[in-house]
Amino acid sequence: MNAVIYARVSSKEQQKGYSLEAQIETCQIAAGRDDVKIDRIFQEAESASKQGRCGFAEMLEYIEKNKGALVYVEKVDRLHRNYGDMAIISVLVPAGACEIRFARDGFRLHQDSPPGDWLNFGINSVIADNYARNLSREVKKGHKKRFEAGRKVSGNPVVGYKIDPSNRQILIDEEKAPLVKRLFELAATGCFSLVQLQGHALEWGLVHNTAKNLASSLHRMLHNPFYYGWLVSETYGEKVGAHEPIISKRLWDEVQEAISRKCKAQGKRRRHLFEFTGVLKCECGETIVGDIKKGRYVYYNCRKRCYPNTRESDLEDQFEQALAKLAVPRELFEIAVEELESERGSHAQAQEQAIADVKRQIGALETKIAKLVDEKISGNLDEESYRIAFSRARQELEALKIHKGDLESEKPLDFSEAEKLFELLENPVVLYQELTTTGRNEFAKLLCSNSVLKAGTLYPSYRKVAARQA
Ligand SMILES: [Zn+2]
Repeated sequence: MNAVIYARVSSKEQQKGYSLEAQIETCQIAAGRDDVKIDRIFQEAESASKQGRCGFAEMLEYIEKNKGALVYVEKVDRLHRNYGDMAIISVLVPAGACEIRFARDGFRLHQDSPPGDWLNFGINSVIADNYARNLSREVKKGHKKRFEAGRKVSGNPVVGYKIDPSNRQILIDEEKAPLVKRLFELAATGCFSLVQLQGHALEWGLVHNTAKNLASSLHRMLHNPFYYGWLVSETYGEKVGAHEPIISKRLWDEVQEAISRKCKAQGKRRRHLFEFTGVLKCECGETIVGDIKKGRYVYYNCRKRCYPNTRESDLEDQFEQALAKLAVPRELFEIAVEELESERGSHAQAQEQAIADVKRQIGALETKIAKLVDEKISGNLDEESYRIAFSRARQELEALKIHKGDLESEKPLDFSEAEKLFELLENPVVLYQELTTTGRNEFAKLLCSNSVLKAGTLYPSYRKVAARQA
């Protein structure tokens, strides 16, 4: 049996000292107890609610190739980063694609898991997601402030710059900045291929050879307006940065021009990704590939054309029918929603309590400050002692007021999203319909890779897995 470990920390948790190592160790101990050998470890350290390719996606790819794989995770809240991920797990496990063992929570999810375990999973997931949401809101607050001050919102410093550790200001990296400028100048001539430019950038230590993202990091560099002093944020718009430019806007424009000329010269070599690319096989063993007819209709067939073309819309219908069979029953969700409601109640109570506590502390401090002033006026306190005591009390008061503001702005747990998710899982077809082509392709690969298409009929392979395990 193939077993893997999945571990995750968000960037914020990392700062607080949560470690991947500790999670991995807990999982390894659990695997040892089960007498299972770990084949691979997937891990990620990143923000919690961003979707994209990452350790989680790699793990899904692994599951796709190793049906019935065992996945060890420390706790439910480590497993998924958002509802999309949770939905995928909730569909994969019942389909027999994998089994999940939560090392610390002490339960497993598999094809025949009792409803109680699913409930446990659901509740923990929703709480984790709410937590992630709050985190991302807090982070965003800081981002906006930084952007308004003309500073880069997040991420590593741009190559050619460094961060002054004393005040977090962005400074020119005297060593690399001239090389960055040189690279732009070379690019602007239009005489060098991107591969040649890559070679220079590598040699000068501006990019690193982590193979697959070499080209994209050079691309990012040469298109980055940050170098002429401009700040661009998807969320907050554009403005002049507070940092010193390395190149002129004119040089930057010339580079964009040169690159776009080059790309046009190379011609478009874009390949289409269809919904069922890499999912289906023909009876003859050949892969089924998609093609566009008349610029609009997507058809599928094997290279030998054993059967007539199959329309994508026909395949979609069949795939949706297969999905509908994986729906999670309504009753389960109703129990979960009840549990969530009671969770919401106790959370609100705790919040009220916390606010009352802070208010009391603020009151006490205000009294203390008033007393200090009195004592100073009546001459019981010398100037110096008064100043020290007063400024300490003021600082404490400020901190408490900020804390109070935070507590009051914290929204009560919101489970409307969870209820929406439950609806989706009750009807995975809706979930599927909301995905983009890439998302659908991943979904289809996970659920039915190596499914057979025969004379226009889809024979999903996951059912075989289910039958073998039953
Ligand atoms: Zn064929």
